[in-house]
Amino acid sequence: MSILITGGAGYLGSHCCVSFIERGYDVVVFDNLRNSNPEALRRIEAITGKMPKFEQGDVRDQAALETVLKRHDCDGVIHFAGLKAVGESSQDPLSYYDNNVIGTHRLLSAMSAVGTHRLIFSSSATVYGEPKSLPLTEEHSLNPVNPYGRTKLIVEDMLRDLAASNPAWRVGVLRYFNPVGAHSSGLLGEDPQGVPNNLMPFIAQVAVGRRKQLSVFGGDYPTRDGTGVRDYIHVVDLVEGHLRAYEKLSALGSSENCFSVNLGTGNGYSVLEMIRAFERGANQPIPFEIVARREGDVSEFYADTQKATEFLAWSAERDLDDMCSDTWNWVRKNPGGYKSASD
Ligand code: NAD
Ligand code: UDP
Repeated sequence: MSILITGGAGYLGSHCCVSFIERGYDVVVFDNLRNSNPEALRRIEAITGKMPKFEQGDVRDQAALETVLKRHDCDGVIHFAGLKAVGESSQDPLSYYDNNVIGTHRLLSAMSAVGTHRLIFSSSATVYGEPKSLPLTEEHSLNPVNPYGRTKLIVEDMLRDLAASNPAWRVGVLRYFNPVGAHSSGLLGEDPQGVPNNLMPFIAQVAVGRRKQLSVFGGDYPTRDGTGVRDYIHVVDLVEGHLRAYEKLSALGSSENCFSVNLGTGNGYSVLEMIRAFERGANQPIPFEIVARREGDVSEFYADTQKATEFLAWSAERDLDDMCSDTWNWVRKNPGGYKSASD
């Protein structure tokens, strides 16, 4: 049971390595380390007692992927590698199409060439675009509003076409809502480079004294307290959803060989609710100021979780307090992220 995890040194990929190793898989990480630190791999070993095999490489390099898939006799692939910052994708769309679309095309070509046909793909709730109805079901229309989301939708369409063309493929598309939190050991967590784009890592850096205060983007949304509402999901729940999805692939028939499922909790929390929850978990105040809305933000979205519950027999178990206390435990133990440990 050997599995290739692209982007396995990153935030979600490193937690996924832990879950798959603990389940008995032989994990091979394929990552170019563009947005990650090899220290994460040592931390995976500290948690599981097993170092994942590591192959440094770029998913746009089809020949390298073919060599690695054959060398380790991989049965399947969990594909996290890619770029993920919405704002940056508008400033530099070519890099996003290159890494996310061309990178996935090369990966699929390599998998076809060596006869590996099982894939789980990291998609995003951003493929839905502006919600027409809530909660968001998998049948909601797909209309992403930024280049990042469009790269995810193009890959989803490519996967559906590929699965339809060849019944040997088994493909799971997972649409993540807002992954947050950290491994309960405090050894693995999110380690953004530069100023964090996302809410939870920003709050965490304020709590640990790396930043003075949080800017809350918009206080005039039509929500219960005027701030944006999102469906935050604990990273460990999210990667356990990957285990279920991967194991579900073997049970699929050849005519229904590609599925798409939301991974969320179904609960929406506002920015102010997140701040209060973190203050409770860290037992210290988070200074903030309400500023203008961030361009491109929608007011509210959260997942319909029925398909995940029924089809994958999976649902999130960890609550908002777990998400905040695990994030706090991680930043408190690693105030400078992995960098200080690896210097
Ligand atoms: P991350 O940046 O921490 O991890 C991505 C990993 O991929 C990094 O280790 C990076 O070095 C590697 N990588 C990037 N481009 C590569 C390339 N061309 N070749 C090889 N390796 C490459 O990001 P993450 O938060 O762990 O996200 C993982 C995946 O999940 C991404 O595809 C992202 O779009 C998707 N996703 C993330 C979120 C989120 O909020 N974190 C939400 C929805 C979807
Ligand atoms: N947000 C905020 N300040 C920040 C970062 C985010 O107020 O510094 C808000 C943002 O407007 C949104 C919510 O927090 O309402 C979640 O944003 P994030 O970037 O984490 O996720 P996404 O926008 O991708 O859902």
